[in-house]
This record gives sequence, structure tokens and C-alpha cells, in this order.
Amino acid sequence: MNVVVQKYGGTSVADVDRIKKVARRVKLAVDSGYGVLVVVSARAGVTNQLIERAKAIQKNPSERELDMLMTCGEQETIALLCMALHTIKVPAISRTGWQAGIQTEGLHAKSRIREVTGGDLRKQLRAGNVVVVAGFQGVNDKGDVTTFGRGGSDLSAIALAGTLRAKGCQIFTDVEGVYTADPRIVPDARKISEISYEEMLELASSGSKVMQTRAVEFAQKHNIPFEVRSSFSKKSGTMVKKKVKSLEDMLVSGVATDKNQVRISVTELPDRPGAAAAVFKVMAEAGVVVDMIIQNVGRQGLANLSFTVPSEDAFRAEKALKEHFADGNGGKLGKSTNIVKVSVVGVGMRSHSGVAATFFDALANEGINMLMISTSEIKISVAVEPKSGDEATRVAHQAFGLGK
Ligand code: ADP
Ligand code: ASP
Ligand code: MG
Repeated sequence: MNVVVQKYGGTSVADVDRIKKVARRVKLAVDSGYGVLVVVSARAGVTNQLIERAKAIQKNPSERELDMLMTCGEQETIALLCMALHTIKVPAISRTGWQAGIQTEGLHAKSRIREVTGGDLRKQLRAGNVVVVAGFQGVNDKGDVTTFGRGGSDLSAIALAGTLRAKGCQIFTDVEGVYTADPRIVPDARKISEISYEEMLELASSGSKVMQTRAVEFAQKHNIPFEVRSSFSKKSGTMVKKKVKSLEDMLVSGVATDKNQVRISVTELPDRPGAAAAVFKVMAEAGVVVDMIIQNVGRQGLANLSFTVPSEDAFRAEKALKEHFADGNGGKLGKSTNIVKVSVVGVGMRSHSGVAATFFDALANEGINMLMISTSEIKISVAVEPKSGDEATRVAHQAFGLGK
């Protein structure tokens, strides 16, 4: 049996009407003879509401309980979508992440998939049922429910497509595919018809939230191609796969904007080997991913260090650092500030010089100040003040001729 996996994100299932529309879309695939496995997110806004409700009771709730709470959002959608399918005479059955055999490891709220056994999914599909699986969730070896980090339903879909050796994996969302920049920030951004895992990964990890980073990582590791497309139109979307020809000769293929970054400053750090290492060891132990780093030249034996972390990790990072410094380790926690990170990404950068010059020049011409810089083989990122984030994105997009 040929199986397809379809994933519908939060805005695609936002209300009853949209859930009914999704059901009709699923029926099209069923009528074409496919076994259809659907992965759904919580309705748009529901995960945030659940988190807010938790925080109204306790400022820093237990991560185990928070995971238990957040998984409710997806569970509402699986049941509602099955009901919508039943009303149009499509046999369907819902499954939670743990019923689908999605086994996880690692921290709550950012667990990884260890294995997907698939539970009885194949049996249900063979029996002619559409199976609707709750995204974003699995179960660890203690039997606790865990989640995969925000946007994690993408990961559920890709992993299940791998397990079921699906003929196709379609990520349905509220834009028509992957664009050269977030179309909500850059109105003349273009849809990319195909993109390599490598570039998609770099865009996602730089803040293009159209795909969750870990989902792309998983797809790349296990070579599971997928398509990002709109649930509101019939147009084909963006294929994400191993080898892509058309983009190889392009210098820059996209610009990513990350508005969820906080710059943490450490002052009065002893200017000696091991002091900075100790700070980053503390971050690693707290499960905080550090991105851009700057250390200034030491003066009178003391140095300043700043680095960026995802906003959701900022509190944990600060708490761990405060404890570290209170323990008599040299250094002081400075003021944290929000920043926006704008990145240009392209495999073409490997063999071309001058990308940084073009990027920085374009920002300078618009009077946009760069606070931090970081680079990788196929990416250049700058941190700017939040008020300049959108403008910096448009300027970069224009500077590399990416517009329509
Ligand atoms: P879903 O709820 O379907 O998972 P998301 O909100 O997670 O959808 O992702 C879709 C959003 O990603 C779009 O609405 C768009 O604003 C944003 N986005 C950011 N960068 C890009 C990009 N390069 N191409 C397309 N969309 C992007
Ligand atoms: N509902 C989760 C979130 O809002 C997972 C997802 O939508 O993919 O992050
Ligand atoms: Mg998403």
C-alpha cells in the first residue's frame, strides 16, 4: 500500500470550518487510493494559551507538568478532525504520539525522538482507516509524556513518514512554500521550488519558522524528502530534498529573521584561560544553546563577554549564571536585551567571496548598526536592534537580488 503523510499546522486547523476543509483535503488523497496518515498541530494559539494558563498558576512550572498540559492541544485536534472525516464518510481513527509508538529521550519540552515503532498504524492503514496522529508529542522510557520544542509537529510528520516509508510527506501550512524570506516581512519574497536539506536546515536554524529545525535535521539524516505547501490553495509548494540543481549557482538563496533571541552579557570576567569555558559549560549543563559570541579585549585583568540564546532559554540561562557567579566564580551577570538576528544563507557562499561585504555595506547604507556577527560556511548572521530587524531583512533581500 502506498502511504502519504500529511501534516497540518495550527492555522490550518484553527477553527471548526478549517478542520472541515482539512477533512475534505484528506479525502482527496484517500480517493486517489493512498493510505493516509495525518499529523496535526494544536489549533493556532492553543499551545500559547495553555502555557499562559500554567504561568498564571506558577511562574516556573515543572517541565513535566507543562509537557503534560501542552500535549492537550494536539489531542483536541486529532479527535475533532476524525469527527470531521466521519461526517464525510471517511473511516478515521485518532492516535496520540505514544499510541503511535513515538519514543523519546532527553529533556522535557525539547525531547528528541529515539525510535518510532509505529504501534498499530500500519494495521489501521491496511484496514482502510485514515490515521490522525497528534504531533509534537511522544513518551520517554519513564513513561512520561514529552514534547519536541515549538513547531515540533513537523518532526512528528517527518519521523512517521520515515517509519512508514511513505511515498510522500506533505507539510501543509499557511504560506505556499519556502520563500526567499518570510513573506510577512518581505512582500516581494519569491517561492523557492526546490531547496536542499542543507540550506533548509540553515534557514530553519537561523529563524525561518516555516519548518522546525529538528525536523529538517531528521529529514536530512534519514533522507526523507518532503514538500512544504499551502493548505489553502492547490498550488505545488517547495520540495526539500538531498540534491538540488537550480540553486547551486546562486550566491544567496534566502534570508532568515529570528526575533526570538536574547543577548546575555557577562561583565568583570577574569581574563584568564578557562573563565569563558566555565561560563559555557554552565550553559551546556542547563541545556541552553548558545549562538553568537563576542568577547572583548581584556582590561585590568577583566573582560566582558556577550552571547545570544533563544528567548525561551533566557531565564534558565540567567538563573544558572547567577548561581555560577554566586559560587565565587569570577564574573557578573549584566543586563540582557532582546535582539533580532538576520542571516543570509546560500551554498554558493562556499566558493564566492564578497558576500559579507555586500551584506554589511547594504546595512550601513541604511544606517543599520550591527551589534554582533557570526558566520558559518554557508551563512552570515548579524544581530541588530529589534526596531531594525524587519528593515535589515528587506535590505539584505534586496542587496542579493532575491526579489520578484
Ligand atoms: P504552521 O502552524 O503551519 O506550522 P508556522 O507558523 O510554524 O506554520 O510556519 C509558517 C510561517 O512561517 C509563515 O506564516 C511565515 O510567516 C513564516 N516564515 C518564516 N520564514 C519563512 C520563509 N522563508 N518562507 C515561508 N514562510 C516563512
Ligand atoms: N502546537 C505546538 C506549537 O505551537 C507544535 C506545533 O504547532 O507544531 O509549537
Ligand atoms: Mg510550524
